Amino acid sequence: MHNVCSPSSKLNPAQRLLNSSFTMSMQSRFARLVTAVSPFVAVLATGCIETDDTYSATTSAVSVSAYTSSGCTTAVVLGLSKQIADEISCMNPTSLTRFSPGGNLTFTSNAVLPYLGAPAKTALLKVSANSSIQINSAFRALPQQYLLYRWYQQGRCGIEDAATPGRSNHQSGRALDLQNWGTRISAMRNQGWSHSVPGDDVHFDHTASPDIRGKDILAFQRLWNRNHPNDRISEDGDYGPGTEAALRSAPATGFSIGATCGTQRENTGANILAVDGPDRIAPGAHATYSITVENTGTVAWPATTRLMVAGGTASQLYDAQSWTSPTEVGPINTSILPGARGTIDIEITGPMVTEETPAFTQLTLVADGDDLGTINIAVTITPNGDEGISGEADDMHDDGIEVTGGCNAGGNGSWAAALLPLLLVFRRRRR
Ligand SMILES: [Zn+2]
Repeated sequence: MHNVCSPSSKLNPAQRLLNSSFTMSMQSRFARLVTAVSPFVAVLATGCIETDDTYSATTSAVSVSAYTSSGCTTAVVLGLSKQIADEISCMNPTSLTRFSPGGNLTFTSNAVLPYLGAPAKTALLKVSANSSIQINSAFRALPQQYLLYRWYQQGRCGIEDAATPGRSNHQSGRALDLQNWGTRISAMRNQGWSHSVPGDDVHFDHTASPDIRGKDILAFQRLWNRNHPNDRISEDGDYGPGTEAALRSAPATGFSIGATCGTQRENTGANILAVDGPDRIAPGAHATYSITVENTGTVAWPATTRLMVAGGTASQLYDAQSWTSPTEVGPINTSILPGARGTIDIEITGPMVTEETPAFTQLTLVADGDDLGTINIAVTITPNGDEGISGEADDMHDDGIEVTGGCNAGGNGSWAAALLPLLLVFRRRRR
């Protein structure tokens, strides 16, 4: 066991694990730390770095249900969502394909899950070849829609309407929300992207691509059963009570056994499993991102590994109190072995902008002159006083229909479908 400080930490490892997600971002503005253990992460209070292989056997990852009443970003379930996307690809390689930010293509929050059906992806890249594209949301996997729906039910995160899990347009693999939609409608239309959902300005659909809604539910069921051979659920692609219960207890950063046909994870050496921090902040505001990352490369990341701004240009998100310079966040201070997971905290300060501005920074893990991996930070700076809302709250006219009269997250899909002819209600988006 290796234990460095933590005077305030008297909790057992499981308590620390559960508490840390909610408390780290509110702790020291100055400390940035990395915790690395394998294969499960024991994340500790700020100021403490503790690793103990025995924790691997005694702690489990934070479950999806831990986030149903906290936070407003679905980036906390990225690891599980990526596994689901990969499993869908295993079932049909063209149904969901990965794309990467960079160049003209930027993300407005860390919650963007960059997968689309193959034709939709091709059409998007044709647009971004000539125009900047700011993506609020692309494919949304079951755990993300589950959280959005639960937050909506509680009146949280500024979400005034949300599709029930399984029904969101964004689970179709052919939907996109663009922050800069207003200047991209014709360019998108020219590549087959429809902009026709009334009252939902940010939303585009690539209607020539197949609608794969339900496949993410089936993929989740397959992953669950692979990891729980003695506690199986039905693999029917329907969102019922059994699937909901399994989803609530599933690890937010992903199962031990992922997609069996390989993954489409970023080929950058760093697989981001969770980003806990705001999607939106006010100008001048300070925020902390707790980033759970897996070293997918073949070499260890030494403690001296530096987080550098890719390209060497000054980042918009430079935090003078914690960064080494505008082009370097600083060293990660502990090592993360190949195949191991760790949590890195990165502090940022929002630039003083007067209009809503997406800020996107790519950070490179650099050791001995070698690039070991890439970590992206995406946040929208908002001077409008709405920093507490979800980055995905802009698009809640989401399945085009809202079933009233008792349909809920735990409802049976076929039961809800039977009510549709009687209870169709068209809802308008928030603004
Ligand atoms: Zn949308």
